[in-house]
Amino acid sequence: MAHVREGRGPTLTVVGGGVIGLGCALAAADAGWRVTVLTDPDSPRAADVAGGMLGSLGEGHPGEDALLEITADSVRRWPELLARLGDPAIAAADDSLFVGVAAADVAFLSQLARFVWSKSVDESVLRQVTGREIRELEPALGSRLVGGYLASGEGAVDNRALLAALETTLARAGGVVVPRRVDSLAGLEGDRILVAAGLGSSKLVAGVDLYAAKGEILRLSANAWSVPGPRHVVRARVGDRMVYLVPRRGGIVVGATQYEPIDADDRAPRVSGVADLLADALEVMPGLRTYDLAEAGVGMRPCTPDGLPIVRELDDRVIVAAGHGRNGIVLAPWTSHRVVEILGKAAAE
Ligand SMILES: Cc1cc2nc3c(=O)[nH]c(=O)nc-3n(C[C@H](O)[C@H](O)[C@H](O)COP(=O)(O)OP(=O)(O)OC[C@H]3O[C@@H](n4cnc5c(N)ncnc54)[C@H](O)[C@@H]3O)c2cc1C
Repeated sequence: MAHVREGRGPTLTVVGGGVIGLGCALAAADAGWRVTVLTDPDSPRAADVAGGMLGSLGEGHPGEDALLEITADSVRRWPELLARLGDPAIAAADDSLFVGVAAADVAFLSQLARFVWSKSVDESVLRQVTGREIRELEPALGSRLVGGYLASGEGAVDNRALLAALETTLARAGGVVVPRRVDSLAGLEGDRILVAAGLGSSKLVAGVDLYAAKGEILRLSANAWSVPGPRHVVRARVGDRMVYLVPRRGGIVVGATQYEPIDADDRAPRVSGVADLLADALEVMPGLRTYDLAEAGVGMRPCTPDGLPIVRELDDRVIVAAGHGRNGIVLAPWTSHRVVEILGKAAAE
């Protein structure tokens, strides 16, 4: 079936209309490519359920220096993408507050700050805060929080508003999104093909081995009796678990668990996951009891064995951008920048 648009300029076919596919499609359209996105309407997108956090630090774990470096780079590119999309409803928070419920939790955060975070950000980004400062910054948080860190510029977006804005901005830039599943790259039209099909990329490209990390995430909506929610992204260490609260217009997103699913159909929220998220979130913000539980969602993060996304040219026609794991939203601008670099190099040859 023909899908490539008529007109001038080289053509790019993108397989996958998630945050990575749409983000790369928009950047390529802005760089002069005639872009068509083919996306399976029946295959769920991880980006639809994501928390939408844009921070690098909260996802910076020991031994993941390379990942921390590219996420920090991508965080710096986000203001430009938000300006391009031009919808103020997308930005959900500007800064993150890392908090600990007990002294041991704060000690854990301090270890991360000293040995992991300090490699990618300087003191102007990260400031240690006391329990009292936390309550001044976020009066809704529990009085037992003993301390933590304020990370400036580690914000969040409303993931669903983001996806909608990417689609409308892409359409305005001349790109087309076609609801169509692709089972093989053979026969696809286009000067170049970008495979950005999340977990589906493994079936389309040999050597791209991805595995799913299942996660539950809750959407709470405010009612007339609800206490006001936080303005910051709140990322809390509660014993040996992390929980986050992300502001949303009219509510809060609480996330997220992460574990190996039984199989690809294991898409129901597990009671244990929902119970842990609620218990930890209530520890951090007791007033959450006043909210309505609007949605218990599940998503599958497309992960790689080494934790780094795969963004590279496979041959002189096919490029792959997949395997963004728990960081696909924050890494969207870095990924589209890399893909346009690859496309630009090819167009110049
Ligand atoms: C619970 C949870 C919370 C998260 N929170 C965050 C967060 O706060 N911050 C962050 O940065 N990241 C977060 N993530 C990770 C993020 O959602 C993913 O990394 C990101 O969505 C991956 O984007 P993608 O475009 O590669 O894949 P997806 O968003 O899954 O999109 C893939 C697209 O490809 C299409 N597709 C698949 N197969 C085919 C095919 N054969 N033919 C055509 N189309 C196909 C699908 O229909 C879909 O549209 C979270 C993930 C989960 C599950």
